[in-house]
Formats: sequence, C-alpha cells, structure tokens
Amino acid sequence: MPSSERGILVINCGSSSLKFSVLPQDKDTPLFYGIAQKLGLSDAEITFHDEQGQTCCYPLKRSSHQCALETLFAYMRQHSMLGSLCAIGHRVAHGGNLFSHSVLINDEVIAQIRGLCALAPLHNPANLIGIRSALELLPDIPQVAVFDTAFHQTIPAKAYTYAIPLEYRELYQVRRYGFHGSSHRYITAETIHRLGLNPAQCGIVIAHLGNGSSVCAVKNAQSVDTSMGMTPLEGLVMGTRCGDLDCGVLAYLARCTKQSIESLYELMNNQSGLLGLSGISSDFRALQSERLSGNPQATLAIDVMIHRLARHIGGHMASLEHLDALVFTGGIGENSPLVRELTVKSLAVFGFRLDERQNNAMCCGESGIISQPNTPVVMVIPTNEEKMIAKDAADIAQGIAL
Ligand code: ADP
Repeated sequence: MPSSERGILVINCGSSSLKFSVLPQDKDTPLFYGIAQKLGLSDAEITFHDEQGQTCCYPLKRSSHQCALETLFAYMRQHSMLGSLCAIGHRVAHGGNLFSHSVLINDEVIAQIRGLCALAPLHNPANLIGIRSALELLPDIPQVAVFDTAFHQTIPAKAYTYAIPLEYRELYQVRRYGFHGSSHRYITAETIHRLGLNPAQCGIVIAHLGNGSSVCAVKNAQSVDTSMGMTPLEGLVMGTRCGDLDCGVLAYLARCTKQSIESLYELMNNQSGLLGLSGISSDFRALQSERLSGNPQATLAIDVMIHRLARHIGGHMASLEHLDALVFTGGIGENSPLVRELTVKSLAVFGFRLDERQNNAMCCGESGIISQPNTPVVMVIPTNEEKMIAKDAADIAQGIAL
C-alpha cells in the first residue's frame, strides 16, 4: 500500500478463529486478507492471502487471539502497511436495541457489548477479545464496532415482537433482532444505485444465502422485516441450523430423549439444517452435485431449503408497498443458478419469471438482472460486508479527526 493511501483493517473475531482483511479507502478489493484458526488448540496457525494471489501460512507462537493480532500487525509492519492504517472496524454480532449505527469503541461501548453477551453468548465474548487485544496493541488507532443487528433496528414493533407475555419480553429483552445487517445494508445501497431507485420510495427483498442465511424486506432503504430472530437460528434452512421450528418439538424431544435444552439447542444450531437433512454435508456445493447424481437425501434437503426460502420471500413481500427487486446474494445466492431457478419457480404465483441464460451466467462475482423483461426484477449482487465495515470505520475515524 503506498504510504499516501490509507487502509482500514476489518476484524471478525470468533471463539476459535480471527478473520481479517485490509481494505484501501474507497476500493472494493482487499490488499490482503486471512484467518487465524484453531485458537486455543496446540496447532493454531495464521494464513495470509495477498493481492497477487500468494498464500502463506505460519504456526502461531502462542495459541491466543492476542498472538494472532501481534503476528498480523508484525506482517503489516513488515509490508509497510501499519503506518498508513487509519482505522480498525470490528464486526460485532449483537448490539441488542442499544446500537442502531456503528460506533467508536470506548470503555462505555465495551461495557455495553459485554452487557449484551447473554443475548449472543458464543459471539459477543469472542468479539470483545478481539477488541481488547487490538486496543492494547494499537491504542492510538480509532476502533469502531459495526453490529450485525444495527440495520434491523428500524423494524417496527409489529414485526419484531414475539407473542409471549410482556414480563418475559421486557425482563429478558426477548424480541426479533435480525442479523447479516452489514450485508443487507450493502445490498440495499447497491440495488438502489444499480436500478436508479428513489431511496425514499423503494421496495426490495434480499435473500442472503451462505452458511448462515436470512431474508430481509427493505422499504424506503430501511429494514422492515427479517427472517432471523433473537438469535441467528430462526428462519431459513441453513448449513447446520434448522431455522423455523415449532418450539413444541424442542419440548417433545427433551421429554423423549432426556436431553437438556442446551444439548438440543446445540443440535439445532450445529447438526441440523442441510447437514441434518442430508446426512452428507452442510456445504451446498456437495449437496448440489449429490442431487445431480440422484441422491434422494440431498434432493430432499434442497427441496426443504427452497420451500422455506420461497415461503419467507413471499411473506416478506407483505411488508412492502411495492417490489422493485428480489436480490440474491451470499455464497449460495451468488453462485447457484439452481437455487435461484427453483426458488423463483416456487414464486411463479407472484409473476416472477427467470431468463435461463442470464441466470446461468451469474456466478463467480458476476452481477445483474436475471428475470425476463416485463416481470418482477430478480437480480444477483455479490455482497461485501467487509467494505461496509471498512466504510463505517473510515467515516467515524474521519469524523473524530476533523
Ligand atoms: P458464510 O455464511 O460463511 O459467509 P458464504 O457466504 O461464503 O458463507 O457461503 C458459503 C456457502 O456457499 C457454502 O454452502 C458453499 O457451498 C456455497 N457455495 C460457494 N460457491 C458455490 C457454488 N459455486 N455453487 C453453489 N454453492 C456455492
């Protein structure tokens, strides 16, 4: 990175991994990115992928997030990138109803994120480890928290409220929060830009389909409904998450199998979804090729996933006054013509019709309209959550520098 060019580091810290990328300001593609994995285990390692497509992997001296960040910063120093770093953006899973925008991290924000750990016990504590380590190592660089939930804070009460007694909703903050906010926000801006829509009068349904998946209804550039709930478990069939499930099933299985709610919750999160349905894999590519060779379990898994997806897209349209576009994104949404074809076929009652050639052409980063003329617009747009996080971090850092 030339020393005149400012860079933003994006950090996504999980319990045993730390993903990172460095983006130059105002550019879409990272200068380099990578992941530190197996943190907490004896064989922890860090991998860097640079702009030229070179990959290098090193064992970590200590198996900790702190050591992963020390190694990352040493790499950046060695490549003359540390001096031009202007901000760090941390992806934070849960902002509860406290954060509707990204914020500069200070002691108060850290305490608030900590206070929300009960709502996201797997994610927020891990996010905090990344924040603390980065602050310790680079205290002079502005650090910004970007919340997965923030974009959905505009959802009205009728859509976010669960029908359970008030005392439980109030005492325990039980409500729908929604996730994938940075992706839905990015796709919203891109769709408005590409179709030349009026932000104050637009209607978009976004299907973000990756390992985790969610649908979002966007009215006048704001989220008005989404399929994920208080946790990322609700809604669509995902890689290993079951999505919508009658709570009665949980109570029934707890009685039948004598398993604890925690162990069943783990089952619903990590062993269900496409993996549980197929018994083969949570990876969509594997299921797609199994389906092609006639595997009945893979076929059923994809059918269940598509049925749920079409049902959610149809339901989310009820939150709009009109529809300008249905947009597919995420690893599956961007790359699988099959998923788009089957989903849009299931939505034929609404008048959707795909252009087969265009649909087949959209993968590997290609984007554009895949519907037939004079039918509701269906598009593919690759998401870029890192860019959104980097933009927020840069904007907030610039604001405090003024
Ligand atoms: P995450 O939610 O972890 O960010 P991604 O958005 O990267 O996940 O999506 C991962 C999913 O995308 C996996 O199920 C993977 O199989 C699927 N995927 C990636 N490439 C393709 C492809 N060419 N065809 C079908 N599915 C794909």
